[in-house]
Amino acid sequence: MPSAIHRSTVLTLMLSASASWTRGKHLPPVCEHGGWTFAGSDAKRQAAKWRCPTGACSPASRWIKAHRLHTLIPRKTLRWKQLYRLRGSVERENGRLKNEWGLLPIRVRRIERVRLHADLTILARLASALASVRAVPLAA
Ligand SMILES: [Zn+2]
Repeated sequence: MPSAIHRSTVLTLMLSASASWTRGKHLPPVCEHGGWTFAGSDAKRQAAKWRCPTGACSPASRWIKAHRLHTLIPRKTLRWKQLYRLRGSVERENGRLKNEWGLLPIRVRRIERVRLHADLTILARLASALASVRAVPLAA
């Protein structure tokens, strides 16, 4: 029996799903042989290749253009999960730079000056991190 938290999570996910998602447009192609398998992607072409599990269909594989619903790396793969975890740490650092290191209140105009402001802020952040890593611990 699902818990109350689980039920509310499922309900939230159901409500937030778009119409295309609920129609199953994010799912890989299907034929009479079963669900098609991921066969790689081409970043230059901006498309992912999907293949019939037996190869009996004609054509046996198909390129699907990259889209919000069809990403170049399928969502259920281990690689997607690893990349998504990295995204969390990147977003956390962006938030720190904006809120704690003064990147957000930009008081200059022109792209060159904004770029300089961002570069100096990031440089200060990196120097601080390097100093804390190199710090020799006092009395061990
Ligand atoms: Zn098939």
